[in-house]
Amino acid sequence: MKRVAIIGGGPGGLYFAYLWKTRHPADTVRVFEQNPEGATFGFGVVFSARAMDFLRADDPQTADLIAARMETWSDITLVHQGESIALDGVGFSAISRLDLIILLTERARAAGVELSFGAALHSVAELGEYDLIVAADGVNSLVRRSFEGDFQTSLSYLDEKFAWFGTTKRFETLTQTFVETEFGTFNAHHYRYSPTMSTFIVECDRASWQKAGFDHLGPDEMKARCERIFAETLDGHPLVANKSSWRNFPWIWNGRWSYRNMVLIGDALHTAHYSIGSGTRLALEDVLALVKALEAHPDDLRDAFQRYQAERQPVVEKLVRAARESAAWYADFPKHMRLSPIDFAYSYITRAGRIDDERLRSMSPRFMQRYDAQRPRPAA
Ligand SMILES: Cc1cc2nc3c(=O)[nH]c(=O)nc-3n(C[C@H](O)[C@H](O)[C@H](O)COP(=O)(O)OP(=O)(O)OC[C@H]3O[C@@H](n4cnc5c(N)ncnc54)[C@H](O)[C@@H]3O)c2cc1C
Repeated sequence: MKRVAIIGGGPGGLYFAYLWKTRHPADTVRVFEQNPEGATFGFGVVFSARAMDFLRADDPQTADLIAARMETWSDITLVHQGESIALDGVGFSAISRLDLIILLTERARAAGVELSFGAALHSVAELGEYDLIVAADGVNSLVRRSFEGDFQTSLSYLDEKFAWFGTTKRFETLTQTFVETEFGTFNAHHYRYSPTMSTFIVECDRASWQKAGFDHLGPDEMKARCERIFAETLDGHPLVANKSSWRNFPWIWNGRWSYRNMVLIGDALHTAHYSIGSGTRLALEDVLALVKALEAHPDDLRDAFQRYQAERQPVVEKLVRAARESAAWYADFPKHMRLSPIDFAYSYITRAGRIDDERLRSMSPRFMQRYDAQRPRPAA
């Protein structure tokens, strides 16, 4: 391959750089990242219990390093009408996004990757001559936007609003709290990602967002209002902001995953709604698939790219379908909130349409016992 440029020093870009340089030490591998070293947006990211298995199978060393810095738990908690319902057996782990990036940066540097931080690319032409360009530059990918017709890009936005905060409040499990206020209905996804910090994502429909004045409040007032809405959940702890503005979730898809010597991975290529917590895993899995495809066709980028897309696309499509089902449930959460807490929890856990009662009984026996006990018996 010889000269490889990676745009974007997020989890996908750094992991590709590390893996490629380790396996091809004679190649020049360079990462261009617009942020300074050690700066990132967001707080923690979650992986489902099974999501780490894929990494462990291919790269146990990196998997162990990540696992050592993770918080893990085995239940999800739903809070609705002030009642907490445990969904047992739904395991997750979380790591600070910054820790993950620092860990991957250290590994890439030790492998001999050239890392350029504070290096924002404004045009693909600035890059000069590279044999391979890996576009790992996230949802607003410059590479993708520069050739969106060639990549057959489609982009649409969800109507709901979300903002990504942290908090010093420690939550024992991944928790979803739903509240009704004078402004309307709000949801928070919250989970700890270190012994002292948690992620706190606030989400609401557009009408509640406008009624709460979020369309015109400044950053401090916005944070204060979110703290007020979730005062009981936060229990006196503050929210912590880091570029925590209101956003609409973007659905990104590309019909063609490569063009010339450029190939898309991670969020530049596809997005999966944060309610299924799989974006980082997908980016890391893309890397493993791309490395395998490039190594299977060392002298022909076109064949390698074809293999990458052919093998990876069905897997990603399956996950994106589940993410869309999940996002559709969240879009209707104000309606679901009319259900009793136990029925609401059942509706939540079955939202992606992939779990039937039988599977739920073996996965979450304590929850299903409770659910079955209150379910009306069919007339004899
Ligand atoms: C609210 C929210 C919550 C989420 N929660 C989770 C979760 O719990 N679990 C999970 O797995 N995922 C989660 N995700 C998704 C996750 O953040 C992404 O899927 C993941 O970061 C994708 O990795 P990436 O490397 O493809 O892109 P990114 O992490 O976005 O990295 C892209 C990098 O490219 C850099 N860059 C962009 N343009 C340029 C340029 N022109 N020049 C140089 N550098 C550039 C950026 O600065 C950035 O560092 C969440 C996302 C959101 C929005």
